[in-house]
Amino acid sequence: MDPSETPFLKKSRFTQFLVGKNGLDESGFKEWIFYPGMLFQAVDKWWGNRGKRERPHEGLDLCFYKDREDRILRLGEKTKIPVLYDGFVVRVMDDFIGKSIIVEHPPHKNEYLTFCTIYGHTNPDRDLKVGQTVKEGEILATLARPTKSQRNVPPHLHLSIGWVVEKISYQNLYWETMSMTRTFKWIDPIQVI
Ligand SMILES: [Zn+2]
Repeated sequence: MDPSETPFLKKSRFTQFLVGKNGLDESGFKEWIFYPGMLFQAVDKWWGNRGKRERPHEGLDLCFYKDREDRILRLGEKTKIPVLYDGFVVRVMDDFIGKSIIVEHPPHKNEYLTFCTIYGHTNPDRDLKVGQTVKEGEILATLARPTKSQRNVPPHLHLSIGWVVEKISYQNLYWETMSMTRTFKWIDPIQVI
């Protein structure tokens, strides 16, 4: 199978859950705001010196949103992060701000491909364990706080979604190797949130 012929993906209620569980509806959440460097496959950074990224962006960065009075607000530290679909946790690994959590979603699996979502720059819940089953909308983590040397990076969620196209063992996955190999066929998260 040509991995570019990816199966249809159901829209997730991720935004609805995130807004509800963090009380953002009280300030009247209207929509996400994305600057060009935040988008899928962007080559530029949107923070700090705005130089080039090391590699095209494997996902989408969520940080800013608009309220009903068209004010632009930012996700706070400790924003609770819900999971997009039912699934189970397969990996927790370091990233450059916090941890990344990989969740596999059997409902979307087919005989060739396994569907996963990844939640980066987070602090996983203390009880979160590899192998644990999670239900759509369940809170996995909170946003991680950038370190002092990352003062120019606001807390944000890096969301990646994609199909695993090679047989892998999750415990050997790291961001560096994931981006160098063709383990994942990434797709644009904007279409499902
Ligand atoms: Zn990112």
